[in-house]
Amino acid sequence: MRITELRTTAVAVPQKRTYRSSWRRTGHGTNALQAVLVELVTDEGLTGIGEAPVVWAGSAAVTTAMIEAVAPLVVGDDPHDHDLVRRRLYAETGMAHLGTQGMSWALSGIDTALWDLTGRILDQPLHRLWGGAWRTRSGFHADVVPDEPERMAEDALARVAEGFRTLYFKVGFAPELDEARVRAIREAVGDGPRLRVDANGAWSPGLAKRLLDRLAAYDLEYIEQPIPPGDPEELARLRARVSVPIMAHESSLSVEGTLAVVRHGAADAVQLDPRFDAGIAGAHTAAQIAEVAGLPALTHTFGELGVGTALMLHFHAAHRNLVLDSQTYYPNLTDDVIAGGPLRFDGCFLDVPQGPGLGVDLDPERVAHYAAFHAAEVAGIKPPPPDDPYYDREYLIRPRV
Ligand SMILES: [Mg+2]
Repeated sequence: MRITELRTTAVAVPQKRTYRSSWRRTGHGTNALQAVLVELVTDEGLTGIGEAPVVWAGSAAVTTAMIEAVAPLVVGDDPHDHDLVRRRLYAETGMAHLGTQGMSWALSGIDTALWDLTGRILDQPLHRLWGGAWRTRSGFHADVVPDEPERMAEDALARVAEGFRTLYFKVGFAPELDEARVRAIREAVGDGPRLRVDANGAWSPGLAKRLLDRLAAYDLEYIEQPIPPGDPEELARLRARVSVPIMAHESSLSVEGTLAVVRHGAADAVQLDPRFDAGIAGAHTAAQIAEVAGLPALTHTFGELGVGTALMLHFHAAHRNLVLDSQTYYPNLTDDVIAGGPLRFDGCFLDVPQGPGLGVDLDPERVAHYAAFHAAEVAGIKPPPPDDPYYDREYLIRPRV
Protein backbone atom coordinates (compact mmCIF):
# COMPACT_ATOMS: atom_id res chain seq x y z
CA MET A 1 0.00 0.00 0.00
CA ARG A 2 1.26 3.47 -0.89
CA ILE A 3 0.15 6.99 -0.03
CA THR A 4 -0.80 8.67 -3.29
CA GLU A 5 -1.97 12.10 -2.17
CA LEU A 6 -1.83 14.50 0.79
CA ARG A 7 -4.76 16.93 0.96
CA THR A 8 -5.16 19.86 3.32
CA THR A 9 -8.31 21.83 4.11
CA ALA A 10 -8.32 24.90 6.37
CA VAL A 11 -11.56 25.14 8.32
CA ALA A 12 -12.97 27.42 11.01
CA VAL A 13 -15.92 26.55 13.25
CA PRO A 14 -17.61 29.39 15.18
CA GLN A 15 -17.45 29.15 18.98
CA LYS A 16 -20.18 30.13 21.44
CA ARG A 17 -17.94 32.65 23.18
CA THR A 18 -14.51 34.14 22.72
CA TYR A 19 -11.85 32.36 24.69
CA ARG A 20 -9.22 34.45 26.42
CA SER A 21 -5.80 33.02 27.18
CA SER A 22 -3.38 34.37 29.74
CA TRP A 23 -2.04 37.14 27.61
CA ARG A 24 -4.54 37.63 24.81
CA ARG A 25 -7.87 36.51 23.54
CA THR A 26 -7.46 33.47 21.39
CA GLY A 27 -8.36 33.38 17.72
CA HIS A 28 -6.33 36.43 16.76
CA GLY A 29 -9.41 38.56 16.31
CA THR A 30 -11.90 35.83 15.48
CA ASN A 31 -13.93 33.73 17.87
CA ALA A 32 -13.86 30.77 15.47
CA LEU A 33 -11.70 27.74 16.15
CA GLN A 34 -9.37 27.16 13.20
CA ALA A 35 -7.81 23.85 12.17
CA VAL A 36 -6.12 22.35 9.15
CA LEU A 37 -7.53 18.95 8.20
CA VAL A 38 -5.16 16.46 6.59
CA GLU A 39 -6.25 13.56 4.40
CA LEU A 40 -3.78 10.88 3.29
CA VAL A 41 -5.18 9.03 0.29
CA THR A 42 -3.84 5.56 -0.59
CA ASP A 43 -3.80 3.40 -3.70
CA GLU A 44 -6.08 0.85 -2.00
CA GLY A 45 -9.08 3.06 -1.36
CA LEU A 46 -8.45 3.90 2.30
CA THR A 47 -7.97 7.49 3.47
CA GLY A 48 -6.48 8.50 6.83
CA ILE A 49 -7.52 11.75 8.49
CA GLY A 50 -5.75 14.10 10.87
CA GLU A 51 -6.14 17.59 12.31
CA ALA A 52 -3.41 20.17 12.91
CA PRO A 53 -3.94 23.11 15.28
CA VAL A 54 -3.49 26.63 13.95
CA VAL A 55 -0.98 28.30 16.27
CA TRP A 56 1.72 30.16 14.35
CA ALA A 57 0.63 33.75 13.68
CA GLY A 58 -2.97 32.64 14.04
CA SER A 59 -2.85 31.82 10.35
CA ALA A 60 -4.04 28.56 8.83
CA ALA A 61 -2.01 29.53 5.75
CA VAL A 62 1.21 29.09 7.76
CA THR A 63 0.15 25.67 9.08
CA THR A 64 -0.99 24.59 5.61
CA ALA A 65 2.30 25.71 4.04
CA MET A 66 4.31 23.76 6.63
CA ILE A 67 2.31 20.60 5.91
CA GLU A 68 2.32 20.94 2.14
CA ALA A 69 6.07 21.64 2.11
CA VAL A 70 6.71 18.12 3.40
CA ALA A 71 4.08 16.38 1.24
CA PRO A 72 6.78 15.03 -1.15
CA LEU A 73 8.30 13.22 1.86
CA VAL A 74 4.99 11.45 2.56
CA VAL A 75 3.49 10.72 -0.86
CA GLY A 76 4.82 7.37 -2.08
CA ASP A 77 5.44 6.02 1.44
CA ASP A 78 3.89 2.89 2.90
CA PRO A 79 1.55 4.01 5.74
CA HIS A 80 2.52 0.96 7.82
CA ASP A 81 5.88 2.72 8.28
CA HIS A 82 4.18 5.58 10.12
CA ASP A 83 6.87 6.22 12.71
CA LEU A 84 9.69 5.89 10.17
CA VAL A 85 7.85 8.44 8.01
CA ARG A 86 7.49 10.81 10.96
CA ARG A 87 11.18 10.47 11.87
CA ARG A 88 12.21 11.18 8.29
CA LEU A 89 10.04 14.33 8.36
CA TYR A 90 11.77 15.39 11.56
CA ALA A 91 15.20 14.75 10.06
CA GLU A 92 14.48 16.53 6.77
CA THR A 93 13.02 19.59 8.48
CA GLY A 94 15.90 19.94 10.94
CA MET A 95 13.60 19.25 13.88
CA ALA A 96 15.52 16.09 14.81
CA HIS A 97 18.47 18.11 16.07
CA LEU A 98 17.16 21.69 16.31
CA GLY A 99 13.94 21.03 18.18
CA THR A 100 10.38 20.56 17.17
CA GLN A 101 8.23 23.18 18.83
CA GLY A 102 5.88 24.85 16.45
CA MET A 103 6.58 22.71 13.46
CA SER A 104 5.57 19.49 15.22
CA TRP A 105 2.16 21.04 15.92
CA ALA A 106 1.59 21.52 12.20
CA LEU A 107 2.98 18.16 11.18
CA SER A 108 0.83 16.42 13.83
CA GLY A 109 -1.94 16.43 11.24
CA ILE A 110 0.17 14.03 9.15
CA ASP A 111 1.21 11.96 12.18
CA THR A 112 -2.45 11.57 13.19
CA ALA A 113 -3.54 10.65 9.66
CA LEU A 114 -0.77 8.02 9.41
CA TRP A 115 -1.98 6.39 12.63
CA ASP A 116 -5.62 6.68 11.52
CA LEU A 117 -4.70 4.88 8.29
CA THR A 118 -2.95 2.12 10.24
CA GLY A 119 -6.07 1.60 12.34
CA ARG A 120 -8.28 1.52 9.26
CA ILE A 121 -5.95 -0.95 7.50
CA LEU A 122 -6.07 -3.28 10.52
CA ASP A 123 -9.76 -2.48 11.19
CA GLN A 124 -9.01 -1.69 14.84
CA PRO A 125 -9.48 1.43 16.97
CA LEU A 126 -6.21 3.15 17.83
CA HIS A 127 -6.43 2.37 21.54
CA ARG A 128 -6.34 -1.36 20.68
CA LEU A 129 -3.18 -0.85 18.62
CA TRP A 130 -1.74 0.93 21.65
CA GLY A 131 -2.29 -1.97 24.04
CA GLY A 132 -6.00 -1.90 24.81
CA ALA A 133 -8.36 0.41 26.69
CA TRP A 134 -8.05 1.19 30.38
CA ARG A 135 -11.29 3.15 30.11
CA THR A 136 -14.23 3.54 27.76
CA ARG A 137 -14.80 7.22 28.49
CA SER A 138 -12.58 10.09 29.57
CA GLY A 139 -13.15 13.19 31.72
CA PHE A 140 -12.45 16.79 30.72
CA HIS A 141 -12.23 20.02 32.64
CA ALA A 142 -14.44 23.07 32.16
CA ASP A 143 -12.62 26.22 31.18
CA VAL A 144 -13.65 29.41 33.02
CA VAL A 145 -12.84 32.49 30.93
CA PRO A 146 -10.85 35.23 32.73
CA ASP A 147 -13.24 38.05 33.66
CA GLU A 148 -14.48 39.95 36.71
CA PRO A 149 -14.45 37.58 39.72
CA GLU A 150 -18.24 37.65 40.10
CA ARG A 151 -18.82 36.79 36.44
CA MET A 152 -16.27 33.98 36.62
CA ALA A 153 -18.07 32.63 39.71
CA GLU A 154 -21.37 32.60 37.77
CA ASP A 155 -19.66 30.89 34.84
CA ALA A 156 -18.11 28.31 37.18
CA LEU A 157 -21.50 27.52 38.74
CA ALA A 158 -23.00 27.03 35.27
CA ARG A 159 -20.21 24.62 34.33
CA VAL A 160 -20.70 22.63 37.53
CA ALA A 161 -24.45 22.46 36.78
CA GLU A 162 -23.54 20.96 33.37
CA GLY A 163 -21.73 18.14 35.20
CA PHE A 164 -18.11 19.26 35.09
CA ARG A 165 -16.13 18.39 38.21
CA THR A 166 -12.86 20.18 37.40
CA LEU A 167 -12.78 23.94 36.79
CA TYR A 168 -9.72 25.40 35.09
CA PHE A 169 -8.75 29.01 34.75
CA LYS A 170 -5.74 31.16 34.07
CA VAL A 171 -3.80 33.04 36.74
CA GLY A 172 -0.67 35.11 36.28
CA PHE A 173 -2.49 38.43 35.89
CA ALA A 174 -2.30 41.01 38.72
CA PRO A 175 -1.72 38.93 41.90
CA GLU A 176 -4.64 40.57 43.76
CA LEU A 177 -6.94 39.76 40.83
CA ASP A 178 -5.72 36.14 40.71
CA GLU A 179 -6.52 35.72 44.40
CA ALA A 180 -9.91 37.45 44.13
CA ARG A 181 -10.90 35.17 41.26
CA VAL A 182 -9.88 31.99 43.08
CA ARG A 183 -11.73 33.15 46.23
CA ALA A 184 -14.92 34.10 44.34
CA ILE A 185 -15.06 30.81 42.46
CA ARG A 186 -14.37 28.63 45.52
CA GLU A 187 -16.99 30.51 47.55
CA ALA A 188 -19.53 30.11 44.73
CA VAL A 189 -19.05 26.40 43.99
CA GLY A 190 -18.38 25.14 47.52
CA ASP A 191 -16.02 22.32 48.50
CA GLY A 192 -16.77 19.71 45.84
CA PRO A 193 -15.40 20.86 42.48
CA ARG A 194 -11.69 20.70 41.81
CA LEU A 195 -10.09 24.07 41.06
CA ARG A 196 -7.08 23.96 38.77
CA VAL A 197 -5.23 27.16 37.92
CA ASP A 198 -2.59 27.73 35.25
CA ALA A 199 0.04 30.47 35.49
CA ASN A 200 1.71 29.61 32.15
CA GLY A 201 5.05 30.28 33.85
CA ALA A 202 4.19 33.89 34.69
CA TRP A 203 5.44 33.98 38.26
CA SER A 204 8.91 34.39 39.68
CA PRO A 205 9.81 31.73 42.28
CA GLY A 206 9.32 34.25 45.09
CA LEU A 207 5.91 35.42 43.91
CA ALA A 208 4.85 31.82 43.32
CA LYS A 209 5.78 30.94 46.91
CA ARG A 210 3.94 33.94 48.38
CA LEU A 211 0.82 33.54 46.24
CA LEU A 212 0.58 29.78 46.62
CA ASP A 213 0.81 30.13 50.41
CA ARG A 214 -2.25 32.41 50.17
CA LEU A 215 -4.10 30.31 47.56
CA ALA A 216 -3.62 27.10 49.59
CA ALA A 217 -6.67 28.15 51.65
CA TYR A 218 -8.88 27.49 48.58
CA ASP A 219 -7.95 23.82 48.17
CA LEU A 220 -6.51 23.94 44.65
CA GLU A 221 -6.25 20.63 42.81
CA TYR A 222 -3.11 21.81 41.01
CA ILE A 223 -1.19 24.92 40.10
CA GLU A 224 -0.08 24.40 36.52
CA GLN A 225 3.37 25.67 35.51
CA PRO A 226 3.76 28.37 38.20
CA ILE A 227 7.25 29.44 37.07
CA PRO A 228 9.08 29.43 33.71
CA PRO A 229 9.92 25.99 32.36
CA GLY A 230 13.69 26.20 31.88
CA ASP A 231 14.85 25.07 35.33
CA PRO A 232 13.33 21.85 36.74
CA GLU A 233 15.51 22.16 39.87
CA GLU A 234 13.87 25.49 40.70
CA LEU A 235 10.43 23.94 40.16
CA ALA A 236 11.43 21.11 42.50
CA ARG A 237 12.53 23.65 45.15
CA LEU A 238 9.16 25.40 44.87
CA ARG A 239 7.32 22.08 45.10
CA ALA A 240 9.17 21.30 48.33
CA ARG A 241 8.14 24.66 49.83
CA VAL A 242 4.42 24.90 49.01
CA SER A 243 1.45 22.66 49.79
CA VAL A 244 -0.45 23.21 46.51
CA PRO A 245 0.31 20.27 44.16
CA ILE A 246 2.26 21.27 41.07
CA MET A 247 1.43 20.22 37.53
CA ALA A 248 4.10 20.60 34.87
CA HIS A 249 3.08 21.63 31.41
CA GLU A 250 5.60 23.81 29.58
CA SER A 251 8.23 21.88 31.61
CA SER A 252 6.96 18.48 30.44
CA LEU A 253 5.92 19.11 26.87
CA SER A 254 8.86 17.19 25.42
CA VAL A 255 9.89 13.65 26.26
CA GLU A 256 13.17 15.01 27.63
CA GLY A 257 11.22 17.59 29.64
CA THR A 258 9.05 14.90 31.19
CA LEU A 259 12.17 12.90 32.04
CA ALA A 260 13.76 16.00 33.65
CA VAL A 261 10.61 16.68 35.69
CA VAL A 262 10.68 13.10 36.98
CA ARG A 263 14.42 13.11 37.64
CA HIS A 264 14.22 16.33 39.65
CA GLY A 265 10.97 15.49 41.43
CA ALA A 266 9.66 18.78 40.04
CA ALA A 267 5.93 18.05 39.77
CA ASP A 268 3.02 16.03 41.12
CA ALA A 269 1.43 15.56 37.68
CA VAL A 270 2.39 16.11 34.06
CA GLN A 271 0.49 17.47 31.10
CA LEU A 272 1.28 15.88 27.74
CA ASP A 273 0.37 16.50 24.11
CA PRO A 274 0.81 14.01 21.27
CA ARG A 275 1.36 16.94 18.91
CA PHE A 276 4.41 18.28 20.71
CA ASP A 277 7.97 17.12 20.50
CA ALA A 278 8.21 13.55 19.25
CA GLY A 279 4.61 13.23 18.13
CA ILE A 280 2.25 10.46 19.12
CA ALA A 281 5.07 7.96 19.65
CA GLY A 282 6.86 10.43 21.94
CA ALA A 283 3.71 11.08 23.96
CA HIS A 284 3.39 7.35 24.61
CA THR A 285 6.98 7.34 25.89
CA ALA A 286 6.36 10.40 28.08
CA ALA A 287 3.16 8.89 29.51
CA GLN A 288 5.07 5.74 30.39
CA ILE A 289 7.90 7.71 32.02
CA ALA A 290 5.27 9.44 34.16
CA GLU A 291 3.57 6.13 34.93
CA VAL A 292 6.81 4.57 36.15
CA ALA A 293 7.30 7.62 38.38
CA GLY A 294 3.76 7.25 39.75
CA LEU A 295 2.58 10.54 38.27
CA PRO A 296 -0.95 11.04 36.93
CA ALA A 297 -1.22 12.75 33.55
CA LEU A 298 -3.64 14.50 31.22
CA THR A 299 -3.56 16.04 27.77
CA HIS A 300 -3.20 19.68 26.72
CA THR A 301 -5.49 21.50 24.30
CA PHE A 302 -4.97 24.08 21.59
CA GLY A 303 -8.69 23.78 20.94
CA GLU A 304 -9.52 20.73 18.82
CA LEU A 305 -12.33 19.74 16.52
CA GLY A 306 -13.62 16.16 16.56
CA VAL A 307 -10.62 14.64 14.74
CA GLY A 308 -8.11 16.04 17.23
CA THR A 309 -10.38 15.24 20.16
CA ALA A 310 -10.72 11.62 19.01
CA LEU A 311 -6.92 11.35 18.98
CA MET A 312 -6.85 12.49 22.63
CA LEU A 313 -9.59 10.04 23.63
CA HIS A 314 -7.67 7.04 22.22
CA PHE A 315 -4.52 8.27 23.94
CA HIS A 316 -6.38 8.59 27.26
CA ALA A 317 -7.85 5.11 26.87
CA ALA A 318 -4.47 3.51 26.18
CA HIS A 319 -2.64 4.80 29.28
CA ARG A 320 -3.32 3.71 32.83
CA ASN A 321 -2.17 7.00 34.37
CA LEU A 322 -4.22 9.35 32.10
CA VAL A 323 -6.67 9.77 34.96
CA LEU A 324 -6.91 13.55 35.37
CA ASP A 325 -9.60 15.58 33.62
CA SER A 326 -7.95 16.73 30.40
CA GLN A 327 -8.05 20.12 28.76
CA THR A 328 -10.58 20.91 26.05
CA TYR A 329 -12.54 23.81 24.57
CA TYR A 330 -14.80 21.39 22.75
CA PRO A 331 -18.05 22.30 24.59
CA ASN A 332 -17.58 25.85 23.27
CA LEU A 333 -17.95 24.77 19.62
CA THR A 334 -21.19 25.43 17.77
CA ASP A 335 -20.62 22.47 15.40
CA ASP A 336 -17.91 20.12 14.12
CA VAL A 337 -16.60 18.73 10.84
CA ILE A 338 -17.16 15.06 11.71
CA ALA A 339 -19.99 12.85 10.47
CA GLY A 340 -22.94 12.84 12.84
CA GLY A 341 -22.10 16.26 14.29
CA PRO A 342 -20.29 17.06 17.54
CA LEU A 343 -19.26 14.39 20.03
CA ARG A 344 -21.73 14.49 22.93
CA PHE A 345 -20.69 15.05 26.53
CA ASP A 346 -22.26 13.10 29.38
CA GLY A 347 -21.42 15.51 32.19
CA CYS A 348 -17.64 15.90 31.91
CA PHE A 349 -17.17 12.69 29.94
CA LEU A 350 -16.74 11.84 26.27
CA ASP A 351 -16.92 8.22 25.11
CA VAL A 352 -13.80 6.74 23.53
CA PRO A 353 -14.64 6.06 19.84
CA GLN A 354 -14.80 2.35 18.98
CA GLY A 355 -14.56 2.41 15.18
CA PRO A 356 -11.34 1.68 13.23
CA GLY A 357 -8.50 4.20 13.45
CA LEU A 358 -9.64 7.40 15.13
CA GLY A 359 -13.23 6.10 14.96
CA VAL A 360 -14.55 9.34 13.47
CA ASP A 361 -15.06 10.32 9.82
CA LEU A 362 -15.13 13.69 8.11
CA ASP A 363 -18.54 14.94 6.97
CA PRO A 364 -17.81 16.31 3.47
CA GLU A 365 -20.69 18.81 3.63
CA ARG A 366 -19.60 20.20 6.98
CA VAL A 367 -15.96 20.35 5.86
CA ALA A 368 -16.97 22.30 2.73
CA HIS A 369 -19.20 24.63 4.78
CA TYR A 370 -16.52 25.46 7.37
CA ALA A 371 -13.78 25.72 4.73
CA ALA A 372 -15.94 28.34 2.98
CA PHE A 373 -16.54 30.08 6.32
CA HIS A 374 -12.78 30.11 6.96
CA ALA A 375 -12.05 31.57 3.54
CA ALA A 376 -14.74 34.26 3.81
CA GLU A 377 -14.57 35.29 7.47
CA VAL A 378 -11.27 34.22 9.02
CA ALA A 379 -8.43 33.94 6.48
CA GLY A 380 -6.46 37.15 6.23
CA ILE A 381 -7.82 38.61 9.46
CA LYS A 382 -5.27 40.99 10.96
CA PRO A 383 -4.29 40.89 14.63
CA PRO A 384 -5.33 43.92 16.68
CA PRO A 385 -2.81 46.73 17.34
CA PRO A 386 -0.51 46.36 20.38
CA ASP A 387 -2.54 48.75 22.57
CA ASP A 388 -5.81 46.88 21.99
CA PRO A 389 -7.35 45.36 25.15
CA TYR A 390 -6.98 42.08 23.26
CA TYR A 391 -3.56 41.92 24.88
CA ASP A 392 -2.79 41.85 28.57
CA ARG A 393 0.30 44.04 28.40
CA GLU A 394 1.24 43.43 32.02
CA TYR A 395 1.25 39.73 31.43
CA LEU A 396 3.83 40.08 28.70
CA ILE A 397 6.30 41.35 31.31
CA ARG A 398 7.09 38.10 32.99
CA PRO A 399 7.99 36.56 35.23
CA ARG A 400 6.71 39.12 37.72
CA VAL A 401 9.30 40.29 40.21
MG1 LIG B 1 -1.11 25.24 30.48
